[in-house]
Amino acid sequence: MVKIKRSVGNKGKNHWIDVMEIQCLINENTHLLKGIEPLLEDGDIGKSTISAIESYQKIVMRISKPDGNIGPYGGTLKSLNKTRKPRSKYGTCFDLATRDNLFPLNFIPAESYKSGMRSFGSSRSKGKRLHAGCDLYAPVGTPIRAMNDGIVMRPVEAFYMRTYVLLIKHDKFVARYGEISHVPNGIKNGAQVKKGQIIAYVGKLKFKKPMSMLHLELYRGDATGPLSTKGNKYQRRADLLDPTSVLDAATK
Ligand SMILES: [Zn+2]
Repeated sequence: MVKIKRSVGNKGKNHWIDVMEIQCLINENTHLLKGIEPLLEDGDIGKSTISAIESYQKIVMRISKPDGNIGPYGGTLKSLNKTRKPRSKYGTCFDLATRDNLFPLNFIPAESYKSGMRSFGSSRSKGKRLHAGCDLYAPVGTPIRAMNDGIVMRPVEAFYMRTYVLLIKHDKFVARYGEISHVPNGIKNGAQVKKGQIIAYVGKLKFKKPMSMLHLELYRGDATGPLSTKGNKYQRRADLLDPTSVLDAATK
């Protein structure tokens, strides 16, 4: 079941991540919308996305005067979920929360990853940029666990404020484990990891007042190219996911 937090479409709130979920969902309903081109899943609300919503409401739901708006609890979202044909390549769009993942730390941080600066979408650089992940505050050296089985996708790379980042392709998503200090022996490009295996350690950010955390970013994994890009306010690739619900649902 694909969910959105805010309304999308005509007169909607149109938060980037919600728009992307709807674009994805509409693309899974194109079998019912003959002659309509698949939407670009870029999170930008535009004429083509709104008109695709209206077409769906008209053709499938038989509404004579469609409003082109999808609410988080409305009939259009329910219907879209009911009629979709999930794509096989990466399963479905964003129902990762229901999957069997492990929380990447062996404790829940005292300071919530859902509030303040730590939350996904929180403001950076005075609003010029948005936080692309969730921050799990933890002491330097805290072991980080693989959220699921997977394969290391790249060599460990330099990241932010003298920390490093590890990229792992899990079965249904790609996880970017950021702001780490180092990885254990054997964690290298192409290595297979098992769910729960220690894959890295929390690093120390070289701010004036040192801080330490796991900065976690998730991607659907069906886009290509570099993860850090300039295309949107998150400055991340278009298949970026909000990790909050995945972390909420993960086994602690
Ligand atoms: Zn962060």
